[in-house]
Amino acid sequence: MSDTNYMKFLGTAGSRWVVARQLRASGGIYLQLNGTRIFLDPGPGALVRCAQSDPPIDPAKLQAVILTHSHIDHCNDVNIMIDAMTGGGYNRGGTLFAPVSCLEGEHAVVLRYLRSFLNSIVTLEPDRRYMIERVAFHTSKPHDHGVDTFGITFDLDPLKLSFLVDTRYFEELPSFYRGADILVVYVTFFEQPPHPGIMHLGLDDVRAIAREVRPRQLILTHFGLSMLEADPSRVAQSLTDELGLSVIAADDGLVVPLE
Ligand SMILES: [Zn+2]
Repeated sequence: MSDTNYMKFLGTAGSRWVVARQLRASGGIYLQLNGTRIFLDPGPGALVRCAQSDPPIDPAKLQAVILTHSHIDHCNDVNIMIDAMTGGGYNRGGTLFAPVSCLEGEHAVVLRYLRSFLNSIVTLEPDRRYMIERVAFHTSKPHDHGVDTFGITFDLDPLKLSFLVDTRYFEELPSFYRGADILVVYVTFFEQPPHPGIMHLGLDDVRAIAREVRPRQLILTHFGLSMLEADPSRVAQSLTDELGLSVIAADDGLVVPLE
């Protein structure tokens, strides 16, 4: 698939229990878009999953790494991915995009000595447009997730590919993703989250989002235990029937062509 646009899920784990026991992998998402190679949210095991991928994904060929927020299941491998992308600093290049809290303050996650290995570090702001070579993307308005968290939409003209990452549900949320053709939703809970302090989505939230956004394809990922117990592919099938749109559940290693 060297010349085609696609994304590959190197992980679909979404709660600390699922990540800690690696019931699903937690490596994040690799994207190849118009010849540009991008890694989104390199969680625990991202580097290993790249090496084990068939064919292997070579981090040295990445042009960019994007972090949506500073939680460990989204950024654990960011440092090793920067090191691998830049040949340990012998092959400087590439760009890191991340919210300011990933870079400064008590939640900073990027090691200082690695930063000079990069071509540039771009601080992500809410509701802004960015370019990675010929690939345009924009951030959402802020999610409600306790730390700076932004969803990402790639504007592949004519295809809009959105990642609605971790957040608590709120009324405005679906409007951030209006126009998405493919919408990847990070759904951790089968039932609604057991108490309001938990800032993740449940399946009812996904229903509300899907009804408003009506993407051509909805892809579920980032599963907690209750979603795994419910069997994500069965959940996706019943949502397909209920909502009248194509819903699939991501598996580790799932490749989605983006033509
Ligand atoms: Zn999170």
